[in-house]
Amino acid sequence: MKQHPRQITGNAPGGQRLPATRCVFCAQPLQATGGRRMVAQHNLAVVLAEGPRGGGNLKVPERVWPLAEGRDAKLLLRGEPNRWNKSAMERARQDALAGWQPWFCQSCAGRVCSICGTPSVYPMGADVIDEQGRITHLAIFPFNPGCANPHCARYKNKDQNL
Ligand SMILES: [Zn+2]
Ligand SMILES: [Zn+2]
Repeated sequence: MKQHPRQITGNAPGGQRLPATRCVFCAQPLQATGGRRMVAQHNLAVVLAEGPRGGGNLKVPERVWPLAEGRDAKLLLRGEPNRWNKSAMERARQDALAGWQPWFCQSCAGRVCSICGTPSVYPMGADVIDEQGRITHLAIFPFNPGCANPHCARYKNKDQNL
């Protein structure tokens, strides 16, 4: 039996997966959604896991699918019970099977300005994936990054952070 200890098909340097072409929920590319590509936050996640996983709770359950026969890789979807519809689950599964890292946009995750809907500059506490497939956790800081839209009442430029 073949062993794939760290990755399934990893198509980027270092075995990282490149991000899929579209958001698993709205099926739009990043150019259309703006913001960052997110793979996890407290109540929503689409991650590739290895080995047995347990977790989630009744309010935010986690569903796990094996990705292929005989391999230990799994697709883990976290979300409130009515969050993952059939087409979103299917997009996540297909993208993962094709070797991509599925992701969701900030609009679908609710990480947008409450006034104008512009994606937040810094979705704190989220895991985001960049163009090269690197996943970074955005630490939580006690500041309000404001809104990136200069026409919005909550607009703040970088120098105004307290
Ligand atoms: Zn979306
Ligand atoms: Zn705004």
